[in-house]
Amino acid sequence: MPLILDGNRVRDRILDELRPRVEALASAARPPGLAVVLAGSHAPSQIYVRNKVKACADLGIYSESVTPPETATTEELVAIVESLNQRPEIDGILVQLPLPPQVDTRRVLLAVSPEKDADGFHPYNVGNLVAGRPGPRACTPAGIMELLRQYEIPVAGKRAVVVGRSDIVGKPMALLLLHAHATVTICHSKTADLPGVCREGQILVAAIGRPAMLTAEYIRPGATVIDVGMNRITDRAGAARIFRGSPERLAALERKGSVLVGDVDPVDVQEKAGAYTPVPGGVGPLTIAMLMANTVASAEAGVGRKPATVVC
Ligand code: NAP
Repeated sequence: MPLILDGNRVRDRILDELRPRVEALASAARPPGLAVVLAGSHAPSQIYVRNKVKACADLGIYSESVTPPETATTEELVAIVESLNQRPEIDGILVQLPLPPQVDTRRVLLAVSPEKDADGFHPYNVGNLVAGRPGPRACTPAGIMELLRQYEIPVAGKRAVVVGRSDIVGKPMALLLLHAHATVTICHSKTADLPGVCREGQILVAAIGRPAMLTAEYIRPGATVIDVGMNRITDRAGAARIFRGSPERLAALERKGSVLVGDVDPVDVQEKAGAYTPVPGGVGPLTIAMLMANTVASAEAGVGRKPATVVC
């Protein structure tokens, strides 16, 4: 039986390690502070932000949600971010994506002071990542590295294959694996012979956004498979194929009208992998934990007290 990499367990350990650090900051001066900018009424974003605010409250981190309307302009959002940059009690700023279509997302993200960039998306911090310099890292890939570390899965010298080259998951994931001395291949929609390349991976990371796309032919026997995908499906026939032998997941679809599936086939991964992250309960819980970790690290570095740097 493969090892199931339990993201909830790793999340709890990360949060337990942060708790005394938050208490120390709170008793020395003030608790760490995170501001979340949520523009408009995108339903999944509202759920994500609610979960982030709840995680802050559970840990004793001060949080603040700024909720401009769906009609907000780029200038209005930049002004909100700039005012948060100046606030000494705010150590981290997160701009929840996607922003409404009329907004220039790049300009808004660039306005975030790199020191307060809780998501690690600012190009300045991406540069720090490329250069192997300290700085906030993108939360999902950083959480995956923590998961590999806690489960003592060797990375150095291993062949790692990352499917997906997005700025928020695929690219930073590949760089973190590279810095941990894996030999890394990044794949995307134009990769030739994707199954063959994936089968080279002793560590295979799927960050694609295509339900159960990576089937048995993509998985090297015994590989560690990290499934970042979070796809909500509503189609009964598709769910019956993907969750063959899992009547409880099909029942969940009947009950809720949709069911969550990763980018890796959940049955095939059990048969071929040596270790894997389930969906849900694998990578998902790690992202918020690392957001908390980035905020605490910023507070410890005294970010709120320093004048904000803006790199545009
Ligand atoms: P994204 O920006 O849409 O990027 C998807 C990547 O997959 C792209 O690089 C794309 O290639 C590649 N791709 C798409 N179809 C492909 C195919 N048929 N063959 C090979 N590569 C293909 O997505 P993302 O933001 O990275 O997110 C990926 C998944 O992770 C989504 O399901 C998302 O919901 C999930 N996610 C989960 C968490 C979490 O906390 N668990 C966090 C973030 C994202 P091209 O570049 O060539 O188009």
